[in-house]
Amino acid sequence: MSEVSNKPEWKLDLLNASFLCGTPILAIIGVYWYTVNFGISFFEIGILFFMYVVSGISITAGYHRLFSHRSYSASWPLRLFYAIFGAAAFQNSVIKWCSDHRRHHLKTDTEEDPYSIVRGFFWAHMGWVMVSEDEEKIEHVKDLQEDPILAWQDKHIFKIGGFAGIIFPGLIGMLLIGGLTGFFGGFIWGGLVRLVMVHHGTFLINSGAHYWGKQNYSTKNTSRDSPILSLLTFGEGYHNFHHTFQTDYRNGHKWYHWDPTKWWIRVFSFIKITKNLHKVPSWSIENARMKTSYEHKENNLNLKIKEDYNQRLKNCTRQIRNLLKDLKKKRIEYKDAKKNRKMLIKETWRQNRITMKLKIKEVKSNIAIVRLEFKKLIKEMNIQNNATLI
Ligand SMILES: [Zn+2]
Ligand SMILES: [Zn+2]
Repeated sequence: MSEVSNKPEWKLDLLNASFLCGTPILAIIGVYWYTVNFGISFFEIGILFFMYVVSGISITAGYHRLFSHRSYSASWPLRLFYAIFGAAAFQNSVIKWCSDHRRHHLKTDTEEDPYSIVRGFFWAHMGWVMVSEDEEKIEHVKDLQEDPILAWQDKHIFKIGGFAGIIFPGLIGMLLIGGLTGFFGGFIWGGLVRLVMVHHGTFLINSGAHYWGKQNYSTKNTSRDSPILSLLTFGEGYHNFHHTFQTDYRNGHKWYHWDPTKWWIRVFSFIKITKNLHKVPSWSIENARMKTSYEHKENNLNLKIKEDYNQRLKNCTRQIRNLLKDLKKKRIEYKDAKKNRKMLIKETWRQNRITMKLKIKEVKSNIAIVRLEFKKLIKEMNIQNNATLI
């Protein structure tokens, strides 16, 4: 971690600071006043949930994975949806958000990282929004500035945010609950409470996901994987994976990883609203995971043993890369053959299918052997490390 020095004097950004500190207070007062006077029903909770999902997903699937990282492409109605409901999250325009975020990835943990965890948890969480240091820098976002939807959003960000984040939930309240009471119900639950929840969900990625959790894919920066944070942030908690493979549309790459954002993007791909979903090859992911597990264990080893272990690691990563590539190739071959099976007589297809399935099985068992080999290596390293400590 680099030492932070020579930072210019900062000035409190009164508007941002009072907004960030004022909204939670207003939300608490609002909830108390509303509940005492009108009670709470399924509708208030429903509006809160609906607004939380539409504005939260606009940040994670829109601002983050689409606009910042271009990990997939989306047709204009979805981009417009993200621009409108992302504004409702009051985290600035796409252009400004992505400028900061791209700098965060380019300069992670350095002085130029706008929300560097090196400057402390509070700074990374919300401190950086509450002060102004240098001139506001908008850079690395030329591609976004050329998108008319995003240029429009940038120009009218407060009006769009005010409408989508405050008036709109109020109107839903009027519709569902009725009258002025309904407007206040929608405004308090779908506007204020939801806004505070989305704010701190996003902030936790900049703070907590650089502070708690495991470094599964890289130790080059402070990013960490935290499945618990993923529960609160539509799947953004797998942050070490994300920093290592930032062009992947998934943050939780396994099917069972809680990542609603990747499911959202995938569902829209079935109706062609999202396209070109970028996935990092499985062998790159497994190689990174093996190398990182190895790095966690190698510190206390003597040079001679290290050389031997290093060689074994290299063998494992090379073999797993080749085998996973082979598995992918064989699966594609099988899929193609299955598609064209009508051109073959039944018996020939039956034979072909058995042979192909057997080959796939063989590759899979070879993969299992290499994984076991790697587990053995890590186990031996653990024993060596414990012996060194004794
Ligand atoms: Zn990112
Ligand atoms: Zn980060």
